[in-house]
Amino acid sequence: MRVRGQYEGIATDTVGLAIELSSPRDLDRIIADFDQCFTGLRDVGEMCSAQRSMILTAYQRGTLENLAANHSHILSDPVQNLHQRCVSQNSDQPVGHNFFVNATGFIDSGLPWAKQFNELVTERLNTTIYHIAGSNDLKAKNSLLAAMTRSPDQELMSSIAVYLAGRSLAGEEFLESHYGQILDRAKNQAIDMTRSIGASTGLRHEMIVRAVNQLQRTAFGSFDHLQGLVTTDNTGTLGDYQIGTLRVEVQFDGSVKAAKLRQGQEVHHILAHELQHAGSAQDLDRYRCGLQSNGQGLEVNEGMTEYLAQLSSGSPGIELLDNGNMRIKPGVPYTAPVYAMLALHEQFKSGRNSYFAILFNAYHGAVNDHDDLRQALDAFYRYDAEVAAQLS
Ligand SMILES: [Zn+2]
Repeated sequence: MRVRGQYEGIATDTVGLAIELSSPRDLDRIIADFDQCFTGLRDVGEMCSAQRSMILTAYQRGTLENLAANHSHILSDPVQNLHQRCVSQNSDQPVGHNFFVNATGFIDSGLPWAKQFNELVTERLNTTIYHIAGSNDLKAKNSLLAAMTRSPDQELMSSIAVYLAGRSLAGEEFLESHYGQILDRAKNQAIDMTRSIGASTGLRHEMIVRAVNQLQRTAFGSFDHLQGLVTTDNTGTLGDYQIGTLRVEVQFDGSVKAAKLRQGQEVHHILAHELQHAGSAQDLDRYRCGLQSNGQGLEVNEGMTEYLAQLSSGSPGIELLDNGNMRIKPGVPYTAPVYAMLALHEQFKSGRNSYFAILFNAYHGAVNDHDDLRQALDAFYRYDAEVAAQLS
């Protein structure tokens, strides 16, 4: 079947997707990489946590010169990545402007790495970061940041690298301080649910263990607004997960100019959803995650993800009607695919077919037969199209 779900940018070929999802992949490396601090932090310097720790440790111990002499790329890579972000054609946001405006916030907060960076900029350019940030010339600010990061001497390189490492950690700690307890609660719920559904679908023990390990490790990303969104701002994106990282994010409510923290219940729902992505089978080439591979299967993957997020958090968006039917409450994301998945799960529980079990197990990396999976995908997409047509 070639079919395009309402959320899909490209049509999904269910035969190809079933073969793709059943082909052997190294699904265990994500945990090993995370434990060795090699997975990305989602910051503009594209650091991994080992690199960030090395930079901040050298800064605190006063050994940056040694680090520069022995492992110069640890300091130069993030600066080069920031430079690339400045000069790339991708002008989705004013990088230089955001960089300097954001820096004033870190300086105001009294963070020593931000104050020292400001002192160095003042000494070199005879102007302060406040002054640069206050200019209305967005292009000039971007050019200035591009020039500063093109081929800085060692002192400037170290200062920018420390600044990037500091802001990356501050961004992660910011999300952790506001939403850390909610993340822990959502994790425990997701772990319990994965174990209990996995037992009903015959998901192999090692697959359940891997999912639980991924869920337990999942942490917040750097929440770096130079790299991605910080507010929902008309995109409809409330949170985000980046394949292969085990790092989730909750975006601000409101607009860029009036950003607001989100509140408990909404944050819980966002994290319940992103955690399902984090716990699903994925590889490090960042193509495969859960039931989607390289954009194929996005609809079925989001349907499963949001349905499981609903189950793990007590099904707040699923309503049992007086006539015994069920419905998805308005406002639940991915309504049609979630309803299709709910229907398949009900059919599985009543013994009519095992499409849900096949999809759930494949979501966690276990496929016995790719043709069975193809049939389950077809069943999902038929249902999904029917529900979408009824809703429209
Ligand atoms: Zn999602």
